[in-house]
Amino acid sequence: MVRNVLPKILVVDDVKSNLVAMGSALEDVKAECVFAESGKEALHLCLEEDFALILLDVQMPEMDGFEVASHLKARRETSHIPIIFVTAISKEQKYILKGHEVGAVDYLMKPIDPLILTSKVNTFLEYYKQQSQMKETIEDLSDKKKKLARTNTKLSSLARHDSLTGLYNRHSFDKYLGSYIDLARKNKAIFALLFLDLDNFKYVNDNYGHDIGDELLKMVAQRIKRVVRDSDIISQNNQQPCVSRIGGDEFALLICEIQSPEDASKISQRIIDNVSKDYYVNDIRLHIGVSIGIACYPISGESPQVLRENADHAMYEAKYLGKEQYCFFSEEIERKHKVHVELEKIIKSGSLDKEFYIEYQPIVRLADNRIVGVEVLCRWENKILGKVAPSEFIYAAELNKSILPLGEWIFSEALNSLNEVIKKTDKNIYFAVNLSGLQLKDDHFMEQVRNAVKQDTKLPSLLEFEITESFFVESIKDFQGNIEDIASLGISTAIDDFGTGYSSLKRLGQLPIRTLKLDRSIINEINIVPEKNSMIVPILDLAKTLDMHVVAEGIETKVQAEFFRDCGCDYAQGFYFYKPMALSDFINIVLSDLK
Ligand code: C2E
Ligand code: MG
Ligand code: MG
Repeated sequence: MVRNVLPKILVVDDVKSNLVAMGSALEDVKAECVFAESGKEALHLCLEEDFALILLDVQMPEMDGFEVASHLKARRETSHIPIIFVTAISKEQKYILKGHEVGAVDYLMKPIDPLILTSKVNTFLEYYKQQSQMKETIEDLSDKKKKLARTNTKLSSLARHDSLTGLYNRHSFDKYLGSYIDLARKNKAIFALLFLDLDNFKYVNDNYGHDIGDELLKMVAQRIKRVVRDSDIISQNNQQPCVSRIGGDEFALLICEIQSPEDASKISQRIIDNVSKDYYVNDIRLHIGVSIGIACYPISGESPQVLRENADHAMYEAKYLGKEQYCFFSEEIERKHKVHVELEKIIKSGSLDKEFYIEYQPIVRLADNRIVGVEVLCRWENKILGKVAPSEFIYAAELNKSILPLGEWIFSEALNSLNEVIKKTDKNIYFAVNLSGLQLKDDHFMEQVRNAVKQDTKLPSLLEFEITESFFVESIKDFQGNIEDIASLGISTAIDDFGTGYSSLKRLGQLPIRTLKLDRSIINEINIVPEKNSMIVPILDLAKTLDMHVVAEGIETKVQAEFFRDCGCDYAQGFYFYKPMALSDFINIVLSDLK
């Protein structure tokens, strides 16, 4: 720092008395005078100290003032110091020019006039002061610039990374995704985008608190990173996969220029294996799984948005299929997604009858082939997707819970049709309505059923709810009470698609169930696999013991119909008898059946 220290002036003269005279002439000047008696000494001092000005005698033995000045100007460290020549030689122009050539900025003639000396010296001191201040400001600025650069680096790292796990954040992920697409397009390469979502992470957060949840996320991030690092799957251009945390418990991986989608499945399986090993956080043992959706460029999309969406759909499919697994995006998943989107649209619109309608498939008594009941089957014709099979849209509707409003609509349509059938045929034909397990647990739906029963006391005897066997197997405990509620209203229940869910008939027999509907897959096999034939008789016998009706579903041939009739099965349904049909056709058939 120059600020509080006096500037220095170097006075050079081989005659001591001259130095003394100069010293006293400069007494009032705000500077410290340093004296040198030779050119050599002056050069030496200039290397050690910083001078604001040099007053240099021209005529000196060994090295004259001109030589000293040219040395000073030649050195980078001293070239900036202003030099005033002090001389007794005449002011000839040639002589003055020589002085300027070697760097002199001014001349002072001996004998020195103290007033001229101090005024000139003060001018240079002022100049020096300003220069020093400028230097300081520049240094300050450069310090600030360095600091700013350091802060910027820190900030940009923070902006690119997730503060909890240190992985890249969503913003960086988006950037990388864009550049990977450009690169892959240029190199005609494929790359994989993996979307990872932890299974049941909410359980950890809810039960152990967010701090434990955060610790767990950090550990998961480390494991994913380790798998990626240890993996031999490094792209052809030697780029390590980009690992990011893109949401609470969501991670994403970009694997650049892979050889084949097989690489993505290998790394996914390794991540699943590693992430699902136990964790210990604060001595608490935790287990967590991960579901992974994979979208490969270009087959699963060519834009960032499409790739992201498709990896997301594939991830949801992995979850739906039972979690802790990976799933590649496929056309089937795309179709499922479209079904999902269109379904949401129509449900939101509230005008279900614009696209949904009901078909009715008669159920006959095998003894005389007379119609005793009818199954209510929902149909959907969408303006974009065309006809969507119930197996597709019921699955989607259960996933997003739109089965609840849809189920209510189907039920009220069924009630209207039931009344119309009674009115037009005067026949008590029972209506079998398919229910999703979700409806059984839904208070709103149960309320709708209770109200309907209140308004029409004959209704329960004409109503049967069909619930698939798989629902019984998965959550029998959850809705045993609801089945009993339905029974207490007088409505009967059927187990649909029996034979697909490996449930124990004996156990199901403890529930108030009236009907067993044998699944079409069993019926289809009766001639091909003889053992199945021997399986059907005991089922029928047990059902009879349990006082259940049995409906053989999906009867397509006379042989099948006769087989079941001969085995003692009472009822049947299938294309051999009737296909699902519109209500008006059903009413006509019932009327002609009556004759
Ligand atoms: P499900 O309840 O077992 O219905 C019987 C299915 O078998 C119907 O298919 C029917 O058209 C078909 N079917 C009947 N006889 C034959 C036959 O002889 N041959 C063949 N190949 N098929 C036959 P659909 O209408 O496609 O329904 C499929 C499933 O979708 C239903 O199976 C049911 O689980 C579900 N579903 C349909 N409508 C509804 C509904 O309103 N609510 C709920 N929750 N599910 C429904
Ligand atoms: Mg059914
Ligand atoms: Mg069925």
